[in-house]
Amino acid sequence: RAKKAGPGTVRFFEEADDKVSRDRKALQADLAGAVAREELFLVFQPFLDLDENRITGFEALLRWQHPSRGLVPPSEFIPIAEETGLIHEIGEWVIRRACATLKDWPDDIRVAVNFSAAQFHNTGILQTIVQALADAKVAPARLEIEITESMLLSKYGSAASILNALLELGATVALDDFGTGFSSLTYLRKLPFSRIKIDQSFIRDMLVQPDCAAIVKSVISLARDLDIEVVAEGVETTDQLDYLRQINCDEVQGYLIGRPVSAEGAQALLDTKKLRAIFAA
Ligand code: C2E
Ligand code: MG
Ligand code: MG
Ligand code: MG
Repeated sequence: RAKKAGPGTVRFFEEADDKVSRDRKALQADLAGAVAREELFLVFQPFLDLDENRITGFEALLRWQHPSRGLVPPSEFIPIAEETGLIHEIGEWVIRRACATLKDWPDDIRVAVNFSAAQFHNTGILQTIVQALADAKVAPARLEIEITESMLLSKYGSAASILNALLELGATVALDDFGTGFSSLTYLRKLPFSRIKIDQSFIRDMLVQPDCAAIVKSVISLARDLDIEVVAEGVETTDQLDYLRQINCDEVQGYLIGRPVSAEGAQALLDTKKLRAIFAA
């Protein structure tokens, strides 16, 4: 790097690197106290079922309100949480919070929680989930765990045993960001997923790239044969929604249906009949 540039350039990059790593260390230190200071919160993004034309649940998405930096996105702090091991404490908090929120919603509404690979290192995670469900008095079938293919690559053995235990408990498992990792089809055979979530990059391109539409259609028909439901992520336009309806996608999620909102906002969505009118076929 910077081979052809003068010595001043190298120095500039080194200083820039220093600044990045100092910044990261500061963020790390702040994140360590974030749970205790109650700076983390969840927002909830709806799933819309296209047969029933109703909201069937919400995905819980983590947010960090940093005292001086403002809102830090998960793409910035989840990797730090994973590297430092803070993900265990944070992940537990997410599960407890999600279950506690679910308690206030009707019985036919589920909550989906995102998992990090590192959480599979910790076998205590199962006990945490069982306890969180019991404390909130919600049926395990209403809890879904979202994992990605890359997690299975790195931690297949421990992931498989924890996922199977979760299924025995009655919870469900969804394969997130489907199509962006490797060996997807192998995992579909080996692990009992209830849902796959087609990555938003496919949904974004499917109406402009015919090969992309072909992939989305094939995934839906494959999933149907395997008795797995399909959720399309990142639906932003009515054209995309119409197309997904045509090709029999089970559920959709995206800014068109609803952005992530507070628990109160989610409750309001459940109370309103407006969605039905907007999205009815
Ligand atoms: P994800 O699980 O694939 O979540 C979907 C992301 O896409 C969310 O970003 C959501 O806000 C965004 N999104 C939803 N609909 C649309 C749309 O129509 N258009 C566009 N452009 N984006 C849309 P967010 O909340 O920033 O989360 C990013 C990622 O961070 C998540 O991807 C997930 O991998 C991770 N994450 C979030 N919360 C948690 C958590 O509690 N634990 C762990 N381990 N990871 C989390
Ligand atoms: Mg997800
Ligand atoms: Mg996703
Ligand atoms: Mg359905």
